[in-house]
Amino acid sequence: HPILALKGVTKNYTSKTGTVTEVLGGIDLEVAEGEFIAILGFSGAGKSTLINVIAGLIEPDDGQILLRGKPILGTGKDRGVVFQSYSLLPWLTVAENVAMAVDAVHQHLSASDRAALARQKVELVGLGHAMDRKPAQLSGGMRQRVAVARALAMEPEILLLDEPLSALDALTRAKLQDEIERIRKEEGRTIVLVTNDVDEALLLADRVAVLTPAPATRIGRVWPVAMPR
Ligand code: ADP
Ligand code: ADP
Repeated sequence: HPILALKGVTKNYTSKTGTVTEVLGGIDLEVAEGEFIAILGFSGAGKSTLINVIAGLIEPDDGQILLRGKPILGTGKDRGVVFQSYSLLPWLTVAENVAMAVDAVHQHLSASDRAALARQKVELVGLGHAMDRKPAQLSGGMRQRVAVARALAMEPEILLLDEPLSALDALTRAKLQDEIERIRKEEGRTIVLVTNDVDEALLLADRVAVLTPAPATRIGRVWPVAMPR
C-alpha cells in the first residue's frame, strides 16, 4: 500500500473573465512509505498547485488524493508543508514559532512536554543557539530551517517541500541540502519535494519525477535515482 496516492488529479484555474488555465491534467502518482520523491518542473508547470492540492489547501476539480488509502479531507497534521518563503510570525521567537505548531496538534501533552518537543525540533535543524531570536534576527537559511522545524513539530506522516531552498543563495542552499539529508536520516519521514533544480532533485531524492507543463500535464517518466552518496 503506498502511503500517498494521487488518482487522476485535475486542477484548472478560471479567471473572472472566464479564461481557463489548465494546470494539472489528471495526475497519477504513488509514493511509498519512507520514500523521498522529487518532482521536477519548469516555472509554471504546476508544482505549487500540486503541493497545495496534496496539502489540502486547494481542492482539485477532479480526482482523488489518498493517504494510506483514505481520501484526505482538507488540511491535516498528517501533512507538514514548507513553502518557498518562510511564513514565520515576526513577533514570536524561534522556539515560540515552533511551539505554536506543537501546541496546535499535541493538545494531549503537558505544557512542559510540548515546550520540550518544540526545543527538540529546533535543535534537530541546528538552531539550538538561536531559540530565543526573532525571525528578523535570522538569516534566510536560518528562517527556512525554522519553517522545517515547525513542519516537523507536527510529526506529520508526510513532509511536503515547495521549493524550500529556491530563495536562498547557492552556499546557504548547499548547506540546507545537507541538513535536509541529515534530518531525513534521523527522522526517516516520507518526503515530497517539488523543485525546478535538477541537481537538487538528483542529490536529495530516491526517485525523480517530471511534471510536464499544461495542457498535457502529467507526471511523466518516473525513474529511480541511483547515486553514490
Ligand atoms: P509552479 O509552482 O510550477 O511555478 P504553479 O502551480 O504556481 O506552478 O502555477 C501553474 C500555472 O497556474 C501557472 O500558469 C500560474 O500562472 C497558474 N496559476 C497558479 N495559481 C493560480 C491562481 N490562483 N489563479 C490563476 N492561475 C494560477
Ligand atoms: P545559514 O546557512 O543558516 O543561513 P549563514 O551562513 O547565513 O547561516 O549565517 C552564519 C551564522 O551567522 C548563523 O549561524 C547566525 O548565527 C549568524 N547570522 C547570519 N545572519 C544573521 C542575522 N541577520 N542576524 C544575526 N545573526 C546572523
